[in-house]
Amino acid sequence: SVKVGVLAIQGDVREHKRMLEALGVEAVEVRLPQHLEDLSGLIVPGGESTTIGMLAREYGLEEAIRARMHAGSLALWGTCAGAIWLAKHIPQFPDQPRLGCLDITVQRNGYGRQVDSFEADLSVEGLDRPFPAFFIRAPRILEVGQGVEVLASFEGSPVLVRSGRVWASTFHPELSDDLRIHQRFVEACGAVNA
Ligand code: GLN
Repeated sequence: SVKVGVLAIQGDVREHKRMLEALGVEAVEVRLPQHLEDLSGLIVPGGESTTIGMLAREYGLEEAIRARMHAGSLALWGTCAGAIWLAKHIPQFPDQPRLGCLDITVQRNGYGRQVDSFEADLSVEGLDRPFPAFFIRAPRILEVGQGVEVLASFEGSPVLVRSGRVWASTFHPELSDDLRIHQRFVEACGAVNA
């Protein structure tokens, strides 16, 4: 069966674990490189992207995850701060520590500092009903590179994207009472194992 990790440095760790467990998936908290063993997928939660990035580097997780990505043996999904951690380009903070494996350009707090949070019903490619999405100090995806598919947009900006095994959402699907996006990610993790 599929085992999926949640990067457990900071942020919405418990909420993602609850979603995975509701789908009958074994959810593993990843704090050290050895916790990646046997995982076919990893979720990088929302929180504070600078904190997550600095600690992931310090604990050797950034390198270990990069190695698994190069080996092609891990699916990755970054949500909100996690999406920032995956982003190749952050023009405001080019030196922010991160994995940077997904060819997107993001702006942190890209919906304006005065807009703390909002909810939007998203039309998502492949889902028959709208997905209720919570955005909290969300980054805005300004550009996507070649080969990055846009699965959902809001106000003209992509909010759910995928490039091969790497997924990113600027919203927090773990805060909705809706398992459909987690379900699809888990299916993608299953394909990694096959
Ligand atoms: N604004 C946060 C950051 O830039 C992300 C917010 C979130 O993950 N909810 O790291």
